[in-house]
Amino acid sequence: MKGPAFVKKDKYNVAVVGASGAVGQEMVKILEERDFPVEKLSLFGSERSEGKSAKFRNQKVTIQKLAIEPTSFDGFDLVLSSAGAFVSKQFIPVAVERGAVVIDNTSAFRLDPAVPLVIPEINPEDIQKHKGIIANPNCTAAIMLVAVAPLHRKNRIKRIICATYQSASGAGARAMQELENQTRDYLEGKPLRKEVFPHQIAFNLFSHDSPVSESGYNTEELKVIQESKKILHDDQIRIGITCVRVPVMRAHSAAIYLEFESKMTPREARKILEDAPGVKVVDEPQKGHFPMPIEASGQDQVLVGRIRDDGSTENGLALFVSGDQLRKGAALNAIQIAERLINIQR
Ligand code: NAP
Repeated sequence: MKGPAFVKKDKYNVAVVGASGAVGQEMVKILEERDFPVEKLSLFGSERSEGKSAKFRNQKVTIQKLAIEPTSFDGFDLVLSSAGAFVSKQFIPVAVERGAVVIDNTSAFRLDPAVPLVIPEINPEDIQKHKGIIANPNCTAAIMLVAVAPLHRKNRIKRIICATYQSASGAGARAMQELENQTRDYLEGKPLRKEVFPHQIAFNLFSHDSPVSESGYNTEELKVIQESKKILHDDQIRIGITCVRVPVMRAHSAAIYLEFESKMTPREARKILEDAPGVKVVDEPQKGHFPMPIEASGQDQVLVGRIRDDGSTENGLALFVSGDQLRKGAALNAIQIAERLINIQR
């Protein structure tokens, strides 16, 4: 694949592929919120959303059906992609050949050694190594690492144990609708329909709905393990994780146990986290006020609290985090990468 040299301009022609989806809608919103220098915005989806529209800067932008032909991508500087890994694998090489830089929210290229996998607060220097594709991490990895990386930088973490509480929106727009429908039907005593999740999501929780490999880990868990190592540039860090889907609409949470090379006190950790970009410490034991998905929803920062000693191991520390995975775990992170690419400093 030929990598384009990214040409800096005053304004850019931007495409969002997957514009009708949960992440795509959020990307359009954030491009406007952050006043990204867009010359022209083009939106793409499948035939299901062809002809629907989204609002951008008080204008209606019609969603076009994505056609994977070289000429479809002529004239785009930047493509923000969130139409699933299968679609990414098909269209991104074609878009890159035509000169676009693609920031991809899917898992298609994340572990490709030639593709940078970036959280701008952690490894922004990797952006410049791109050859046309920059990958956005798995949403759970992103939320966890925004809190963990600043601590790791001060005192190397040898081992992470994590248990997640992942919202329905992590599985897309139809999954959000399913949670809403099932909740309403349950309260009205009607039979529940399951079209997206394999199990009832309303008033229930279940082990993450991604396929389980021979290792016993499901795909979501493997993504967090493998992608964290790549983002932290640390192959030696050991990670154990259990991912669970919970009946929360938006924002993923995680209980995280860290084992450092040497002692890290809760006080030191709190100070580091208070100064860390993208983090907000929410840790008020007297009020019983700690990170909650309902407070993380719509926010750019990852909320971190329950910062305490983990007495079960030497040099252990425990945390609880909540972060809006549609924003920091996907759309916001992608647009922060785009901002770094064009040298916007925030
Ligand atoms: P979603 O709500 O299901 O949206 C999927 C989008 O892809 C829709 O716009 C859909 O268009 C489009 N699409 C599907 N097939 C297509 C095709 N053949 N051609 C063109 N467009 C097509 O899913 P999502 O939650 O936004 O996730 C999108 C991607 O981001 C996934 O790879 C996911 O793993 C990743 N991701 C999601 C999150 C999250 O929190 N949700 C976080 C990080 C990464 P139609 O509406 O026309 O079908």
